[in-house]
Amino acid sequence: MLSFDVCECGAPLQRMERETPTPKGAEVVLKVIAAGVCHSDLHIWDGYYDIGGGQKLKLLDRGIKLPLTMGHENVGEVIAVGPDAKGVKVGDRRLIHPWMGCGECLVCKRGDENLCVKPCSVGIHRSGGFATHVLVPHPRYLFDITGIAPERAAPLACSGVTAYSALNKVKDTLSQEPVVMIGAGGVGLMALALHRKMGGKSAIVVDIDPAKREAAKAAGASHVIDAAAKDALDQIRALTGGGAWAVIDFVGAGPTVKLGVDATIKGGKVIVVGLFGGDVVVPTPFFPIKALTIQGSYVGSLTEIAELLDLVKRTGAPDVPIATRPLDQVNAALNDLRDGRIIGRVVITPQA
Ligand SMILES: [Zn+2]
Ligand SMILES: [Zn+2]
Repeated sequence: MLSFDVCECGAPLQRMERETPTPKGAEVVLKVIAAGVCHSDLHIWDGYYDIGGGQKLKLLDRGIKLPLTMGHENVGEVIAVGPDAKGVKVGDRRLIHPWMGCGECLVCKRGDENLCVKPCSVGIHRSGGFATHVLVPHPRYLFDITGIAPERAAPLACSGVTAYSALNKVKDTLSQEPVVMIGAGGVGLMALALHRKMGGKSAIVVDIDPAKREAAKAAGASHVIDAAAKDALDQIRALTGGGAWAVIDFVGAGPTVKLGVDATIKGGKVIVVGLFGGDVVVPTPFFPIKALTIQGSYVGSLTEIAELLDLVKRTGAPDVPIATRPLDQVNAALNDLRDGRIIGRVVITPQA
């Protein structure tokens, strides 16, 4: 099998050749048909998150080992199953839920493997899909995608379930109040598409990039606001009748979280999804006076990915712009993403 691996943080991925794995126990081996390139791949590649004040949260100190095959948004076709792998057979096309935990603890047992303290996620802690083949430890991570094109299904594993889980956290107000979304990158555009399917009233999108605002408008945003405009906050307040009940921050920079907090009405929620980095100061009296909730959201659970696929099968795949590229262009795809040249999602197609 072939893969493109991070061998040194931030250096170009290296082409590697190794033996295709043979599944043991409940393991399943798939050939990769589609592997989405995600913004968080850039952080994994760099090897750190910026946590503000010049400090870095280093991934190599958190159990990530090199060389690493990244790629956590994968659709594959089953080519071999272990003797104990039930419910899948050779030839099945499946979306891989990448957010694996230890599988043993209470958190994992209730399906929230994405919140396990011993994560074992595909493309982060274990080999991912920037490769011709991928090994999955158990069929419970494999989801049927009948009726959904592989390159449209792949991004559901990260950007899809991340957007779905964030929207799920504000579902109480979704059908009655506009939701404010900060950042119209891959996940933001996905959220915009899913928001409609989930019965959302309307979405106001805030972004500094005119091209991304344009894309958001085309994807159904009721209003778009330039985050750099001096009156951005006033515009949000005017469009939400005094303040937003729900702000979802897909950027996660200090100033965007601050904007989110300032833009909420009493009782409002800010859901932080993006990992851009930085920090934010929130006056503590805001919490009681504004009855403020700031909640983080990290990818999604097995239950949420099942719900999301059900929603997509009923209502159609989210209409997010998708461009495909062959496996040997993965470095170029990552660089384009870093330089802000991607609208929507790039999906690597290793069999093409
Ligand atoms: Zn991702
Ligand atoms: Zn666990």
